[in-house]
Amino acid sequence: MRAVIKLVAADDRVPAYLELEQDVVFRHLSPAERLRYVERALDAGREAARGYQARHLAEVEALAGKWGARVVMADGGSFFGAIQLRAQHDQQTGVITLYRRSLDQVESLLASVLPEPWSRERVVATHLAHELFHHLEHTRLGPVDGQLPPVTTFRLGRLWETRCRARRCREIAAHAFARTLLGLPFLPNAIDWLMLVAMGRWTEEALVQTVEAARQAVRREDRRRSGPDEFQGQATS
Ligand SMILES: [Zn+2]
Repeated sequence: MRAVIKLVAADDRVPAYLELEQDVVFRHLSPAERLRYVERALDAGREAARGYQARHLAEVEALAGKWGARVVMADGGSFFGAIQLRAQHDQQTGVITLYRRSLDQVESLLASVLPEPWSRERVVATHLAHELFHHLEHTRLGPVDGQLPPVTTFRLGRLWETRCRARRCREIAAHAFARTLLGLPFLPNAIDWLMLVAMGRWTEEALVQTVEAARQAVRREDRRRSGPDEFQGQATS
């Protein structure tokens, strides 16, 4: 698993790209736009964490208190459809609920696949920091996807078009906030994939291939930006 972790940790844009890939707007964005959305979302999360540092759960809890969020630990996991929630922010009440049993599961699954296991405190702090970013979005910053151009997902001539926000950019930003605030070794959306491997629902090999494909997509765009390719079209047309 070291190889995957190394790939993921080397460039946050790679795991963030995989997050955006799961958004309905993804296939409506050009390769250049995809990378721009990813970078702007990462920047939003990092920027919100700038000037703060929390190395312990108690410090994240103190920040939550300072920013008007109340943190509650609940025993069972709450189900959202078929997905067991690990943490949740309620916009109306400002309450962040952390689900003990789901977080226990994260800790033990990660321990079975990571070369350097995460402490329970770090697992909890990561999820709290993520939700705290959503709290900040709601109370101060505004939703990150609202700061990015809406994406046209359907067009019927010049008469009709449907536009959507890149909702996953909020998740990318929340992960970047957690990573920066806590000094995590990689963007924590990777936790979900590691858990799938730990549960036997995904193979390590498939994970490597998926991450590698995202890395190539990011690299292609980097090369296009820095190379003369983008002018070739003009020169030959
Ligand atoms: Zn979230």
